[in-house]
Amino acid sequence: MEKQKKFDVIVLGGGPAGYVAAIRCAQLGLSTACIEKWLDKKNKPVLGGTCLNVGCIPSKALLDSSHHFEFLTKESKAHGIEATVSLNVTQMLERKNKIVAGLTQGIAGLFKKNKVDWLKGSGKIVGKKEVTITHHDGSTSTVCGNNIIIAAGSNPVSIKTAQTDDKSVIDSSGALSLSEVPDSLCIIGAGVIGLELGSVWRRLGSKVTMLEAAPEFLPTTDVAISKEAYKIFKKQGLKIQLNSKVTATNYLEEKVEVHYENKEGQQSTTFDKVIVAVGRSPNTENLGLDTVGIKTDVRGFVVVDDKCHTGVDNIYAIGDCVRGPMLAHKASEEGVAVAERIFGQSPHVNFNTVPWVIYTWPEIAWVGKNEKELKEANRKIRVGTFPFLASGRAHAMGSTQGFVKVIADEITDTVLGVHIIGPNASELISEAVLAMEFGASSEDIARTIHGHPTLSEALHEASLAVESRTIHY
Ligand code: FAD
Ligand code: NAD
Repeated sequence: MEKQKKFDVIVLGGGPAGYVAAIRCAQLGLSTACIEKWLDKKNKPVLGGTCLNVGCIPSKALLDSSHHFEFLTKESKAHGIEATVSLNVTQMLERKNKIVAGLTQGIAGLFKKNKVDWLKGSGKIVGKKEVTITHHDGSTSTVCGNNIIIAAGSNPVSIKTAQTDDKSVIDSSGALSLSEVPDSLCIIGAGVIGLELGSVWRRLGSKVTMLEAAPEFLPTTDVAISKEAYKIFKKQGLKIQLNSKVTATNYLEEKVEVHYENKEGQQSTTFDKVIVAVGRSPNTENLGLDTVGIKTDVRGFVVVDDKCHTGVDNIYAIGDCVRGPMLAHKASEEGVAVAERIFGQSPHVNFNTVPWVIYTWPEIAWVGKNEKELKEANRKIRVGTFPFLASGRAHAMGSTQGFVKVIADEITDTVLGVHIIGPNASELISEAVLAMEFGASSEDIARTIHGHPTLSEALHEASLAVESRTIHY
């Protein structure tokens, strides 16, 4: 009989939660294995999980490509650049696939460099220190770990009224691989995925309708930001219909008829494609959690404390399969923290400074609390805003939509939240995250010298605006 392999740590899942945890464990000198089951389209085992294979990276690759396309078709003339433009979707997808392949191979390289053992196949907990792996060829093996980190991630939520058929009704993964631009596209759910992928296909020429069940648009975003975003996206051509509940879909030969209900009553429209983007749910079935007494909540998330401990011996859970935002950077930070905790250190993840980004154009990004949340908590606040219309750099770029909003405590002036809609908001938010991490006041940002001309001057000016002393507005 083959001798059972023993490790200090076994990580179940090789997405941004699991692969980062595994690398950090190995850096700290812990013998580490990471079990990952993902197979790419050619049935080749790959690391990187949702984020690298069908999430953050491929979506941003297509967002960038489609942004260039829109620039050339709609904006370049104003720069004195006239071009005859044609679209090659196959090449665009090939570029995206190449980026994904390069990055997933990069993780495999990092595993080699750090001596993380990548065990290929599907893992199942069979004891408090034991995991069985079903390999891709059907064989099985069992490994032993003093610590187990569950990092099994999440999957798209499906709805009965619009079941995916991988042809006309697709999920976010399918929407990253459409071989041609659909003439008409329906997106069910106007959340982050809907807006990002809706933007990609709209820029490439689709007529995009978004059916959102909730009465509010982007309800977790600061109201001023979501109002501005709604206005801008509508003007861009995204037809966002709130209060719209899909009741049925009828699969026609090449099209799909979507029946939905809104305030006016029952409606039906025919589309070329339908993307279902109504959220994601934790991938926690078939992990053997019950075997060792690990609890899940009603939605299937593994129950953990603020240290990501499951309450069962040395078993932790991190990333999308536990509470908190389903974001790659949150998942990775939890991975690092758990690795360091296993090693005996006392790390800390500050959930109040997790940045949120929506990669539309203009981009949306925020950190900390929004105005409504603070008012509901009876916090006395001061607010400063600054529009990109008053930013020299934004004019030079030709991207003047949006604004920065800084919220500070009325007495202490501590920054409580920063909310941005505007060009490169995804990068600008990092300064606000750092400021909040260091407990900065709005005056601290206001007294910090910002390069000129940069978009970051808008954050500087919004901080000055808290004291009603902006210079350029
Ligand atoms: P995952 O990335 O889902 O990884 C879990 C891994 O575990 C998978 O590889 C899976 O195969 C493996 N696994 C599960 N069960 C087993 C098992 N039994 N045995 C072996 N392996 C197993 N987040 C951002 O922060 N920024 C973005 O821009 C962004 N864009 C996104 C765009 C899209 C279209 C989508 C769908 C998501 C996006 N996200 C984004 C969310 C982000 O992808 C997730 O938050 C992140 O991937 C979570 O990491 P994770 O490691 O917890 O889970
Ligand atoms: P989401 O929660 O952002 O949006 C889902 C939307 O669908 C919500 O507005 C919801 O009200 C709506 N909805 C739910 N059921 C519906 C129904 N039956 N009919 C119509 N609308 C319905 O979820 P998502 O966009 O699917 O994204 C999933 C997760 O992935 C998010 O939690 C997000 O954090 C993560 N993600 C992050 C990024 C990023 O950081 N840029 C990008 C993509 C995804």
